[in-house]
Amino acid sequence: MSDLVFTNVRKVFAGGVTAVDDFSLSIPSPTMTVLVGPSGCGKTTLLRLIAGLDRPTSGEIHLGDTRLDTLTPKDRDIAMVFQSYALYPHMTVAQNLSFGLRLRKTPKERVRERVAEVARTLEIDELLDRRPGELSGGQRQRVALGRAIIRQPRVFLFDEPLSNLDARLRSEMRAMIKRLYHQLQVTSIYVTHDQVEAMTIGEQLVVMNEGRIHQVGPPDQCYRRPADRFVASFLGSPSMNFLEGRVGPGDGEISVGDRALELPSGARGTPGVMPGSAVTVGIRPEHIAPAPPPDAGEREVLRLDGRITLEESLGHEVLTHVEVGGDELVARGAGRFAADGDGDGRTELFIETRHLHFFSGDDGVRFGGSGDL
Ligand code: ATP
Repeated sequence: MSDLVFTNVRKVFAGGVTAVDDFSLSIPSPTMTVLVGPSGCGKTTLLRLIAGLDRPTSGEIHLGDTRLDTLTPKDRDIAMVFQSYALYPHMTVAQNLSFGLRLRKTPKERVRERVAEVARTLEIDELLDRRPGELSGGQRQRVALGRAIIRQPRVFLFDEPLSNLDARLRSEMRAMIKRLYHQLQVTSIYVTHDQVEAMTIGEQLVVMNEGRIHQVGPPDQCYRRPADRFVASFLGSPSMNFLEGRVGPGDGEISVGDRALELPSGARGTPGVMPGSAVTVGIRPEHIAPAPPPDAGEREVLRLDGRITLEESLGHEVLTHVEVGGDELVARGAGRFAADGDGDGRTELFIETRHLHFFSGDDGVRFGGSGDL
């Protein structure tokens, strides 16, 4: 078993764009790690550095005892699956699958065995004589997966492999990739900007922005205890809601509009959290309710007045957009918010204070709140 270790990896392209900046991370083997972040944050560049399609400007990448970043791509024993499938159009499925093995002069009998095994695993045995042009998008992507796994490499790299598929096929292929990973137990790095894919496929998420790591951890932890405001707003759909506030005026208080909230325990003494300093309060849409929870004390619930501006019914739940003091908040849940009778959509929102997240208004770093207990 070989851990994949990045030490201070940096990639600056000609023209001065820093695509990956001071990236240090140790990925235990085997792990399904998902690199997630907005377009241009450096995800593909990082995969290309691992595969050897680009060289880091500085820093090192090791796989177990092997230093990877100085090897040629063919000596790295890494397989990559692309969004574009990258199949050879003039070859049959069987020839596409076996191409890498034939290139390595694997004995014919062994090639036949591996093609049959992989085709069975991916349920493409019926398609072996067809050419890529005669396959659906989902079938093509399965062939591309097959071509990667047939070689039994030390690391798999997936670059947005499902982006060309429709929603139903995407969820089927997500499940297939997860099953494959559990069966093969090979370290896999999966790049996506789709946070649903990231949350469902990853054992570990690496949330990136502008070439830098913001948070590393299991998906659930990144969602429940986001390290900073960027992670909080990137993970979750609809996004986390934010309200601006200040520490004070009372001791141990944060004021948001005309409401006073308790400063989270442990937040006192945190750098940047001083009387008067700006604070951002984060609220997940699923934590905004049309009624207070029964038996909750007054200090345990934040009550806000707002005006409903839009309702979107998704069948099993409703997204309600509410304007609160100039900010638009989105609530998500099965319940509907009651508007008062005079037709201007005025309503009340209730949020249990144990669900609030607190971020420094200065650098966006989280300093307490939900999930800390
Ligand atoms: P996407 O989700 O859109 O694919 P990404 O997170 O994979 O984005 P990268 O493709 O790694 O992002 O690009 C990171 C940054 O590096 C971007 O600003 C991009 O414009 C820049 N970049 C990528 N490749 C090159 C290149 N060959 N030359 C110059 N700049 C580049």
